[in-house]
Amino acid sequence: AARATRRVAGVRPAVASDDVPEPEVAEAAPSEPLPLGSNLSDLQAQLAALSAQNAALLDDIDKLKPVEIPKTAEEQAEEERLAAIADPLAHAGLANPMGLETRIEPRVLKPGELLIQNTENDIKWPTPDENPPFYERAPYPAPLPGDGDEEAKAAKRDPNPLHVVHVTAEMAPIAKVGGLGDVVTGLARAHLDAGHNVEVILPYYSSIEGKVTNLEHVMDFDVSKGTETEWDGVREVRLDAFSTSMYTGIIGGGNVILLRPASKEHSNIFIGGKIYGGSYNELEAYLYFCRAALECMRVSGRDPNVIHVHEWQCSAVAMLYWDLYHAEGMLRNAKVMLTIHNMDNTGECRQEEFIATGVSGEEFNTLEKAMDERTIGHNPERLCLLKGAIVYSNYVTTVSPTYAKDALGGGGGFLNKTLSKSRMKFSGVLNGVDEQIWDARLDPFLPCSFKPGAMGGKALCKRYLQEGLGMDVNPDKPLVVCVSRLVPQKGVDLIRHAISHTKDQGGQFVLLGSGHSDPPFSQAAETVYKRDKDVKLLIFYSDQLSHLLYAAADFVLVPSMFEPCGLTQMIAMEYGALPIVRKTGGLADTVFDLDDPSKPYDDRNGFAFDGADNYAIESCMNRAFDLFKHRNVDLRQIQEKVMRTDNTWEKAGKEYVRLYRAMQA
Ligand code: ADP
Repeated sequence: AARATRRVAGVRPAVASDDVPEPEVAEAAPSEPLPLGSNLSDLQAQLAALSAQNAALLDDIDKLKPVEIPKTAEEQAEEERLAAIADPLAHAGLANPMGLETRIEPRVLKPGELLIQNTENDIKWPTPDENPPFYERAPYPAPLPGDGDEEAKAAKRDPNPLHVVHVTAEMAPIAKVGGLGDVVTGLARAHLDAGHNVEVILPYYSSIEGKVTNLEHVMDFDVSKGTETEWDGVREVRLDAFSTSMYTGIIGGGNVILLRPASKEHSNIFIGGKIYGGSYNELEAYLYFCRAALECMRVSGRDPNVIHVHEWQCSAVAMLYWDLYHAEGMLRNAKVMLTIHNMDNTGECRQEEFIATGVSGEEFNTLEKAMDERTIGHNPERLCLLKGAIVYSNYVTTVSPTYAKDALGGGGGFLNKTLSKSRMKFSGVLNGVDEQIWDARLDPFLPCSFKPGAMGGKALCKRYLQEGLGMDVNPDKPLVVCVSRLVPQKGVDLIRHAISHTKDQGGQFVLLGSGHSDPPFSQAAETVYKRDKDVKLLIFYSDQLSHLLYAAADFVLVPSMFEPCGLTQMIAMEYGALPIVRKTGGLADTVFDLDDPSKPYDDRNGFAFDGADNYAIESCMNRAFDLFKHRNVDLRQIQEKVMRTDNTWEKAGKEYVRLYRAMQA
């Protein structure tokens, strides 16, 4: 039957619109109640009419639903962009640390709480064919500083703060090549925590551009700089006012002052892909930098209590400070400290080259001042910048007591005479480890945290590394790790022998290293050990992977020929890996053999050997393997004891403040 339609009284479209036709519904019986006495069939008719009306209304609602218009590609992209701004971490890959499914928020930890409390099932186990490799997975968010930390910090504040200015060629993490960078950042942070005013003057290398936080251009100022030219046997020296730019910023949580020539067109100083990797003349560049650092302090009105210079690169600061700046009444308050991190390089300099500081080298070229004794009788004699700084500094430190003792003897080479004369102002202060970077409880690069009393995570880290590198996944094989520059100083022949010996003894070895002695290692990685399930030779630099290696290792090998301090053996301890070291320099000061009865048991923390032959390292490693093989509660207890060793910068920082104050007296 044809359906008549009518408008339903009292029902309006939810959205009034001229375009939307008014709905029509089926004709229904009037909805007035029936009079008393109506029979059942009347009621049924009324119910049917109401049901029809209801169905028609539902139909209307469906018709009124807005039509879904698909988004254009631009709208979709804009939506994603807005989501990314609202949640930047998600798009930095941090929403999925270590390949996990769930998003992890940065949080404040309770004292002693582990950062990552994964069980075996929570970990997304890596495979060797991941691309990018498993060790480049995004780290966990670092913990937020908590209230407790602030209280602890306040308790450490020195009531009498000093103003310390470091002048250095390196600073971790962005301008680091080796231990020097770690030391400057660690020491500066310890002193900042103690409430001192610390600034670090660093070259503004083009390789760190874009990596400095809060970078600000402060001013340009002139620095006196000489240039030497020679034409047809005639030497000429020209002095220029060299325009220099000063920036401030933050690196590794500390305040820095960055200096570089104002014009890139007129100078290539500090331009290059790496810290020491430019095509400029390094000696000229650092001599200019030393003069610029002093000039910058003068023109910016700084007059610190301490100017702390590092290595040969910054040695000229000590010489110029006393003979030029202080002598002429500028920068009156400062006392100068020199720290020698490695005496391998001493800063050889022709007298004429010193003119890059804007000052003639002639007056420094005497036996008492900076003359290099080895060049006596040459015409003219040369300068040794490190010697000049030893002579001119109020105090000289090196990075461990044993290296200091060695330096006064044969280890100091020709400088031992100068050091001996200066012995009253010379000592070794052991470096520390930066626990904001190296801490098994808080390390965001690990799949699972651990600490003394909760060591389960260490076994998971070992398995994670074995799986990721495609090694035999076996907790019962002792894992030896070596993280090192591959240069003769580090005992490359002993490292080579240790690799094959470990394999022969049924253990596993992972090497992470690079340097000019690395070709034989790269070759072995591609041939003998290419498919080996127990030996992995990784010939490159990876800070992130190094964290996992220390955490996974049972033993960390450091067989250096000489070692001013060494950080890797101390980092190993932070992760409960027992160090196996050659007894030299700082290694002898920090690692005490577990079998040495002359040491209190509590101080014994690793394995150490004398000598430099295969037998010496083999027998030392065999003792370590023996401990591992017969391991029982003892090994766990030793690991926990080693982790409790105090290698912090707080201790070294206090010793430096004691020496800074002694200089002021
Ligand atoms: P040096 O300053 O003589 O190189 P140290 O032991 O004082 O030796 O410091 C070495 C530092 O460099 C440590 O932090 C170590 O972990 C790091 N390191 C060395 N080689 C590598 C590498 N290939 N990848 C990552 N880190 C490395």
